[in-house]
Amino acid sequence: MVTTRTPLIAGNWKMNLDHLQAIAFVQKLAWSLKDAKHDHSSVEAAVFPPFTDLRSVQTLLDADGLSLVLGAQDLSAHDSGAYTGEVSGASLAKLDVHYVLVGHSERRTLHAEDDTVVATKVAAAHRNGLVPVICVGETADDLETHGPSAVPVAQLRASLAGVPATAEIVVAYEPVWAIGSGKAATADQAEQVCAALRQALVELVGADRAAATRILYGGSVKSTNIASFLREPNVDGALVGGASLDVDEFARIVRFESHVGV
Ligand code: PEP
Repeated sequence: MVTTRTPLIAGNWKMNLDHLQAIAFVQKLAWSLKDAKHDHSSVEAAVFPPFTDLRSVQTLLDADGLSLVLGAQDLSAHDSGAYTGEVSGASLAKLDVHYVLVGHSERRTLHAEDDTVVATKVAAAHRNGLVPVICVGETADDLETHGPSAVPVAQLRASLAGVPATAEIVVAYEPVWAIGSGKAATADQAEQVCAALRQALVELVGADRAAATRILYGGSVKSTNIASFLREPNVDGALVGGASLDVDEFARIVRFESHVGV
């Protein structure tokens, strides 16, 4: 069976851009991709603004019929109730949010989110019709102690404990040592771990779902290195942090096919 996976380029804005800046950014990004005749059905582009921007971006995407896809950076494990400061998957779904990051290394490290919390959030996303982008990745110490794939594969396995094998997910392999460091993994390193993650998916969700699941690479992705990752058979896109805040640079990353031979 030949499975084609539409590449996904996802921009994680983290805690940057207020709702007015978000509107200007998304307008400019949409114009830039339109000018370049970007085909959204061949490479999907998604933005993950802070919670406070989501309503504004949703309104803009809807009013102008834009093909950019909306993602959120986190969600609560609960659907409603006395959880001050949390945002539910149900509320995100009402804002036409399609994807939600779960288990980003900054949440794991700064907010002590362990594999159990990540699994409950993946389940909450699925329950509310959102597609979780499950972030996994090893630290530099993990790499030295356990090699490249052991920790990401273990994190992936734990994260799927509460969802059926049929649930749509996206996996983002983000080596922690590459995030925000300017030192991306090599394409070979990314492929090695993404292939191991896909192999784990075969066992966890079956061969068909594993073949259909997109696995992204994240960590210091730029327009100058994106093409090398996307040439790898098991890398189906990128989760982009810093470079997603520069609209021209992000548009170039989305349009990697135009410089894939570079
Ligand atoms: C990220 O935080 O998900 C990320 C990949 O960041 P950067 O691209 O800045 O390394």
